[in-house]
Amino acid sequence: MNVQNSGHGPVIREMRITPIAITDPPLLNAAGLHAPYALRTIVELETADGIVGVSEIPGNESTDEALRLAEHIVVGKDVYQLGRLQQELEVRFGKDTSKDRGDAPWDQRRLVHVFSALEVACLDIIGKLVNRPVADLLGGRMRDAVPFAAYLFFKYEGAGGKLGFSVDPNAIGWAAARQQQAIDPEGIVAQARAMCEAYGFQSIKLKGGAFAPDIEVACMHALHQEFGEAMPLRFDPNAIWKPETGLKYGREMESILEYLEDPVRGQENMAWLRQKLRTPLATNMCTTSFDEIPASIALGSEDIILSDHHFWGGLRASMELARLCTTFGRQLSMHSNSHLGISLAAMVHLGAALPHLPYALDTHYPWQSEEIIAGGPLKFQDGEVPVPAGPGLGVDLDRDALARLHQQYLDCGLKMRNDEIEMQKIHPKWTFKKTRW
Ligand SMILES: [Mg+2]
Repeated sequence: MNVQNSGHGPVIREMRITPIAITDPPLLNAAGLHAPYALRTIVELETADGIVGVSEIPGNESTDEALRLAEHIVVGKDVYQLGRLQQELEVRFGKDTSKDRGDAPWDQRRLVHVFSALEVACLDIIGKLVNRPVADLLGGRMRDAVPFAAYLFFKYEGAGGKLGFSVDPNAIGWAAARQQQAIDPEGIVAQARAMCEAYGFQSIKLKGGAFAPDIEVACMHALHQEFGEAMPLRFDPNAIWKPETGLKYGREMESILEYLEDPVRGQENMAWLRQKLRTPLATNMCTTSFDEIPASIALGSEDIILSDHHFWGGLRASMELARLCTTFGRQLSMHSNSHLGISLAAMVHLGAALPHLPYALDTHYPWQSEEIIAGGPLKFQDGEVPVPAGPGLGVDLDRDALARLHQQYLDCGLKMRNDEIEMQKIHPKWTFKKTRW
């Protein structure tokens, strides 16, 4: 039967692409400073029978344009035809290469984002059709709740959004704490205490690369002193260290780290350092695509791959990556960017279905103060998110919030992420350097 344009059943009738802007505090990283708003794109697919599937990906004008260009490929497809959809998108846009990933601290490849958005929305629809959660479509849940880590940032004072570098005097608890400046060990420990108290996290990650290594490593030692041996700690300077810096400070943190994330740039440098440190090395920057797996294995560049379904081409691709990791002695965990509840729900379904989950996953979720899913933010219990109940992703779009955050996107004027430009508003001579220390 030709299901293309058959006009009934699980055939996609309409695709809606809505860019949104969400309030984001002034967080620091190796690439500069977070803008007052982070961008996301919400994709809705609606079938001929009126079933709607949703997904969320990092916002970028170029990805939105690619999604619009893909519309004629998507509309008329059966939601089960994911292989065919991917193949036609590859023909239309060309396969992403590892070169497309480039040297930026975040991923701007187009096809992986486009396919991830479409795949997750299709799986949401399929889940609703067969009355099963997405985790069941990925092989079934291995666990009922998925652990996440506290994700700490150096930051300037401020709430982001309209408040910018000002704070909301009425905020309390974590909502107040996340507005505080954190540029030294005292500030980082206070941030960690407040976040762990609010969410119950049982692992801690600090995003570094913002200050000189001795300051940042002092923060890791302060966290170790504050939380003790039982709290697993990770540190991620976003590949901004030279190999000798990675070796010096990697050794200084050897006794306190669960893993060290992207201390240096490139698979060769990671492999060199990995030979010299006992601490496991993790990456979301040196091995970032299936194309890079052969070199990763040949060189031995990392112990842990931090997958991200938005960057690896969807949830099923991430399950395939898990199998490769098992085969080649890697562990798999998860990377994150500023995101809302649709992405979190997808991450939880994937985390629930992964055969092995040795590490708590990354999430930026506590930094966000807005939401687009009905019923408000997903709840954490002791640092874990239970798999959402209900078929598909188990979350529904709050259409009023979607309209409001889309208006915020139009008003804020941002079209893509550029942390360097934001940093230059504070420090005009600051420039991004791939390797700084
Ligand atoms: Mg990272």
